[in-house]
Amino acid sequence: MIKKLYPWQDLLFSQWMQAGNSRHHALLFHGKAGIGKLDFARTMAAGLLCLQPQNGMACGECESCHWLSEGAHPDFREITPEDDDSGSESSKKKTRKRQQILIDQIRALHDYLALSTHRVDGIRVVLIHPLEAMNVAASNALLKLLEEPPQRTQFLLVSHQRQALLPTILSRCMQVEMPVPSMEQGLQWLQSQSVAHAEWVWHYSGGAPTTVLQDELDLHGWYQQFRPQLLRGAEMDVVAVVPVLIKLGMEQAIQALQKWLLDVWLSCNQQPLRYHPGDAGPMQPLASGVNLSRLLAFQQQLNRFKMTAQHPLNQELQLEQLLLQYKKMFG
Ligand SMILES: [Zn+2]
Repeated sequence: MIKKLYPWQDLLFSQWMQAGNSRHHALLFHGKAGIGKLDFARTMAAGLLCLQPQNGMACGECESCHWLSEGAHPDFREITPEDDDSGSESSKKKTRKRQQILIDQIRALHDYLALSTHRVDGIRVVLIHPLEAMNVAASNALLKLLEEPPQRTQFLLVSHQRQALLPTILSRCMQVEMPVPSMEQGLQWLQSQSVAHAEWVWHYSGGAPTTVLQDELDLHGWYQQFRPQLLRGAEMDVVAVVPVLIKLGMEQAIQALQKWLLDVWLSCNQQPLRYHPGDAGPMQPLASGVNLSRLLAFQQQLNRFKMTAQHPLNQELQLEQLLLQYKKMFG
C-alpha cells in the first residue's frame, strides 16, 4: 500500500488528521486526475489505522501497517472497478465491467460493515475510487450507508468528476477540493523523482504530473516519434503513426490527439499553447493552414470516441480512421 504525500498536500493532510472525532464520516476528495488524490486518501487510511502514527503518518512498522502492506487489513476495504478474470467470451461485457463499480461490491460492503471491527475500539476505513464509476444501483446502495453510517467508520471517497455524482451522494459527504501543484512545486517534485525533461512533462501533463510516473513508457521519448508526424499535417504517414500511437493504449492515444488539437486551435488564435509550449514555433505554419470547422468537428468526434475507447476490437483500424480525419483538417 502506498503511503506518500505530495508537497502540495502537506497542509491539508495535517488538518484532516488533527480533526479527530470532529471529522466528517464521509470525506469526498475531488479534483482533476493526476494531482495525487488517491495517494492522499491511501496515506490517510494508513495513518488512521496505524497503531503508533507520527504526525498523522503511518509508522510502517506496526502490526496494522504490515497488514496494510500485505493488502490484508481486517479493518480496511478498498473498492474500485473490479477486474473480471472469468474469461468471459464476450469481450464487450468484460470491458464494461472493468469500468464500473457494481452493486454487488457495495452489497458486500454492507455485509462487511455489519460485522464488528477487528479491534474493539478500532476505526474502520472504506476507500472508494473513482466514485463516478458507480452505477446508479451501486450509488443508491452506498447512499444508505452514508445516511446511516456504522459507528467509527471513515469513508474516504475519491472522484475526478464530481459533476457526474448523484446530488444525494454529494449532500451526504464533506466535499474537499484537492489542491493542485503550482508550477514550481510540480517541477520541484518531478526533479526530486529524477524525471527527465521535467519541464516538458509538466506542460504535457497539463499541470497534473502524478500519473506520468506510473507509466512504464518514456513519454518524452515516445513524443519524439509522434511529433514529426503531427507536424506533417496533411502529409502524415498514417501507417507509420498507428503503431506509435497504439503504444499508449486507446484512451491515452485519444488524449494525445486531443491535446495536440487544442494547441493547434490556440495557435490559430495566437494564444499561448497549453500542452506543447516548446512547439509553438513549428506549430504556427501548421495552424495557419488548418480548416477550423473541420478541427472542431474532429474534436467532437474524439470526445465521442473516448466513451468507447476501451473497446479492444479493431483499435488499429479505428486509429487509422481518426488519423485520416486529422489529415483532412489540412486538406
Ligand atoms: Zn503503523
